[in-house]
Order: sequence, then structure tokens, then C-alpha cells
Amino acid sequence: MEGRCNELVGDMDELVARARSERDPAMRRALKEQYDALHDEWSAVKSELTAAKEVQANAVRGIVGTFRTLGAEHGKHASDYFDLSGATAAVRKMVEDALPFVPRDWLNTMRAAGVRVETLAEPRRSSRRNQPPPRSYFSPTTNTIYIARGKDKLTVVHEMMHAMDEHSQAFFDDSHDFFVRRTRGKQLRRLANTDPTRNYGPREQAFDMDGHCVSPYAYKRYADTVTGDLYAFEVSSVGVEYLYRNPLSFAADPDHLAFVLHKLREV
Ligand SMILES: [Zn+2]
Repeated sequence: MEGRCNELVGDMDELVARARSERDPAMRRALKEQYDALHDEWSAVKSELTAAKEVQANAVRGIVGTFRTLGAEHGKHASDYFDLSGATAAVRKMVEDALPFVPRDWLNTMRAAGVRVETLAEPRRSSRRNQPPPRSYFSPTTNTIYIARGKDKLTVVHEMMHAMDEHSQAFFDDSHDFFVRRTRGKQLRRLANTDPTRNYGPREQAFDMDGHCVSPYAYKRYADTVTGDLYAFEVSSVGVEYLYRNPLSFAADPDHLAFVLHKLREV
């Protein structure tokens, strides 16, 4: 289904390009009709895919819930755990929807730490030209999770794991130890070279796992330029996100799956 979806997007892009250079109005109309037909199919496949992914995420959540208490305390909401004063209604809802995927004691850790969630401001139109869309991130400096447009609840879950790496020493140590063990002997490479389909910056580097990873981004290296100390990781954020979003992807990296499940059980 995912393959068909991407295929349709490619075909639609091609039609748009052809229509742009087409002068004949009758031909343009014909292209527009073809485009509409593809778009209808794309919408149908897309909504089926979304529904299937929702079922999958909830199935995994059901399993995790057998060994860990997940979600907010009864009667409590996202605003009881996070400062949402800088979040739009859409992002507030995403945070609310993200809660049931996160262990309750982790939510309490973030509440105690006063973590904020904000909607990432769109760059001005003039500066957006040729620039990749902004990515969601967690800033330890402002203690804020910034969520970009068009993201979903599992992106919020991902960024919450960065807040956990920041606010729980045990959580951080666990990420650190796994990252060091798993990347030992591996070579650092620019992410932009490993995965040219995404808009990675020239300074973003990750250990080359030779495809044995859910995403090359999972082993991104954040090291202090002076001391070389590792100060952040993607192993927990990508790990927990992919457990819900794309559990089959762990077939490429069973060690990472074991790490995520251990973390959800014990940390
Ligand atoms: Zn991340």
C-alpha cells in the first residue's frame, strides 16, 4: 500500500510538470482529468494506509501496556503534564493523543521538569525558497519541544524521548550505553550521503550501520566539539517512535528492538 501511495505521488508530480509546459488547452484539460483520477485513488489508498497504521500502533500499545502503565492518570490531560501555552490547537491535540503511548512515570518526570510544547513558527515566505521545511526538535536550552507543521502524535512521542534523555539520568545512561555498544567499530558518515532523500545538513553525521538499522538517523552522533562527550542520542527517540510507527522495520536491527523493549520494561 505504501509503495502504491509513493508511486501515485510520483505520477501526479509528473502530470503537473507536463501540464505546466503544455500550451494546448484541450490537452491541459485531459491532463487535469488524469490528475484528478490519480488523486482520488491516492486519497483512498492514503486513508486505508492511515487506518492500518493506527490499528498497528494501537496493537503494539496494547502489548506494551501489559507490562508498563501507559498514559495520563485518570481524568488528567496533556495540559496537566506539559506547558502548552505556545501550542496551536492542532499540536495540543497531538500531545493529548501522544500521551497513551508514553509510560506514565515518564510523563511524570517531564511534568516535574516543566517541559513545554510549542508549535514551530513557519519561516517567512521569502526565506523559505529552496530551504527544507523546518524539523521538529527538543531544545534543552528552552526546555521546549517544538513541533513542525504536518507532524503527528508519534513525532510528539519521539521528541518527548529527547526530553527524557535530558531529564532522567538513568534514561540518558541507558541510551548512552546502548549507542556506544552498538556503534563500536563503525565508521562515521555524513547523513546527507547515507540518505540523500532527506534534507540533512552538512554537519549531521551518523554511524554507518550498513543498512542494519530502522533508519540511518537512529545512530546520529551528537558530540561536544571540544570534549568529544556524547550529549544526545536518537536511539530512544527513533526507537520508541518506530516501535509504534513501523515495528517491522526492526527486522533490520533486532538489537535496537531489544534495547527499546528493555527500556520500556525497566527504565
Ligand atoms: Zn530526534
